[in-house]
Amino acid sequence: MLKIRFIEGRACPFVHCDSCGERIDRCDEGIVQIFSDGRARFVHRATPCDDRSDDEGWYGLDTFLVFLLQNVGYNASKAKHQVGLLTEAGDESCAGLG
Ligand SMILES: [Zn+2]
Repeated sequence: MLKIRFIEGRACPFVHCDSCGERIDRCDEGIVQIFSDGRARFVHRATPCDDRSDDEGWYGLDTFLVFLLQNVGYNASKAKHQVGLLTEAGDESCAGLG
């Protein structure tokens, strides 16, 4: 699941495990399970959260995020420009916080 944490006045998005609820801090710590009804579930990799007994498959978190960004027409240059505009306006980046 995606959650927002408010840190130093900023709304910072993070990925959390749909099993234990804890934050997934790095791509190599998580997978996304895919189910036949179209659901996707973020879970910690290689932990008790990682029960693949009833899914239809899975992606590494990094792979899933790339596919997701492709499907919403993500433009890295435009996004970096917009983040730069936010920073110039005093809305600092969330990178490295939390
Ligand atoms: Zn977990």
